[in-house]
Amino acid sequence: MDIRERYAEVKRRVDEAALRSGRKPEDVRLIAVTKTHPASEINEAIEAGAADIGENRVQEVLEKYDSVSPVRWHLIGHLQTNKVRQIIDKVVMIHSVDSLKLAREIDKRAAAAGITMDVLIEINSAMEETKSGIPAADLRQLVTDICAECGNVRVCGIMCIPPIAAEPEDSRPYFREAAELFEDMKGWDLPAERFAPTELSMGMSGDFEVAVEEGATMVRVGSSIFGPRNYR
Ligand SMILES: *Cc1c(COP(=O)(O)O)cnc(C)c1O
Repeated sequence: MDIRERYAEVKRRVDEAALRSGRKPEDVRLIAVTKTHPASEINEAIEAGAADIGENRVQEVLEKYDSVSPVRWHLIGHLQTNKVRQIIDKVVMIHSVDSLKLAREIDKRAAAAGITMDVLIEINSAMEETKSGIPAADLRQLVTDICAECGNVRVCGIMCIPPIAAEPEDSRPYFREAAELFEDMKGWDLPAERFAPTELSMGMSGDFEVAVEEGATMVRVGSSIFGPRNYR
């Protein structure tokens, strides 16, 4: 199968998982994760219908940006404050906010660019030390602080990456926990222009169908579309 066929196949599986869980296919967005893959391959996915592209490193966004057809870019990996300036006008959403310090920097750069940046808060559900993200228990305080301080940031929901799993089903408890947190979040009384919790970003190649069944509104799928990553 080529990229076009694999994209169509993943999209079909996303749509079916949505229907299976009583949701509409258009309520789940497929983000094609393109790290290590060249612009030419990204353009193949775009021709196959991909409208959202995810990169986890700022450097890769910058390297490929001018060679890729117009598309919505998402920054999905850990972001250092000193790199925010370089991508502020290139991405539509930052999925990996995990500190007030980072939110403040995004706010500052967004204000300078005259935009509001949509962000998700990354949750570290399993409390893995090697991973970024905040404990679920700290979510409400962080979101409250961001809404109070950052006039050019809009918190749109949460992102999570469960521990590496042997079976897709192993991720389900983490997805369920994130979904419960997301539902809870929708009831928080915060200013609508700063806080619009509509997105739950979870699920990767190994477990995206389970994520959709548990309520994901965005899945981030790389290797199932582009094949194995070629780290240089
Ligand atoms: C690489 C990556 C993905 C996609 O992983 P695959 O297993 O290749 O689908 C999703 N989310 C993040 C944050 C990633 O870095």
